[in-house]
Amino acid sequence: TTAKPVDIDIESKVTFEDVAGLKEAKVEIMELVDFLKNPEEYTNLGAKIPKGILLTGPPGTGKTLLARAVAGEAQVPFFSMSGSEFVEMFVGVGASRVRDLFKQAKEKAPSIIFIDEIDAVGRSRDKAKSFQSNDERENTLNQLLSELDGFGTNTGVIVLAATNRVDILDKALLRAGRFDRHIYLELPTKIEREEIFNVHLKRIKKDDTIDVDLLASLTPGFSGADIANICNEAALLAARKKKEVVSQIDFTEARDRVVGGLERSSKIISPNE
Ligand code: ATP
Repeated sequence: TTAKPVDIDIESKVTFEDVAGLKEAKVEIMELVDFLKNPEEYTNLGAKIPKGILLTGPPGTGKTLLARAVAGEAQVPFFSMSGSEFVEMFVGVGASRVRDLFKQAKEKAPSIIFIDEIDAVGRSRDKAKSFQSNDERENTLNQLLSELDGFGTNTGVIVLAATNRVDILDKALLRAGRFDRHIYLELPTKIEREEIFNVHLKRIKKDDTIDVDLLASLTPGFSGADIANICNEAALLAARKKKEVVSQIDFTEARDRVVGGLERSSKIISPNE
């Protein structure tokens, strides 16, 4: 979510251990690690290795986290860019950034390219026109399409992209040989929320009042990002109270604050979205 236009993370330290729940998504994405590590096993049999995989699902469900974890598990360089950075760019800059991104990734292959918020560059050309013409965005999208077509399936580069608006993506992006595989990340179930709390509680100095089961029950509809936020907020609250450890009460207070924040932000969502 916080990626700069081209952000290179040669050694992603994130692994699947940092990603709670999402069991099916992990299994699907594990295949990619194998494609990157042993491409010949597939290509020798005449199989084409997928190039583009789209991670979809509501905000904060761990799309970026999962992409970083694949790079960490496969121990390959991770090149990321955020689609939203290109919207306001000067003519020619978006397209050249895309070219540069693919060039660098190919040089460092096997590697992973991650494009966050791909809908910002990849929204349907027709829909975007009726809203506001944006030639630069279109140039960037065209460059992206041509880069996707321009590299072979045995280049050792896999492109992951994330969006929570798959419905508005230009169909050209979803064609065979481009982002033709989709992995859907759902909001966590109660058990998964417990697992997410446990991942984030590891870093926190806490006492034995913590009831993870209850915290998971108190957070239906919350995303992984919301839960990470609660954990951090609880530690901040406890620090403000000059406590040595974080207790259950800090978590329930933090939850109420996060709920307040969510309610406020839902009121200011743009009518266009
Ligand atoms: P967006 O659509 O808003 O870009 P996203 O789906 O890419 O969101 P992330 O940026 O990956 O979500 O998640 C934000 C943070 O939330 C992560 O860095 C992590 O701390 C936490 N988080 C989300 N999902 C999980 C999960 N399944 N397990 C552990 N932590 C999670």
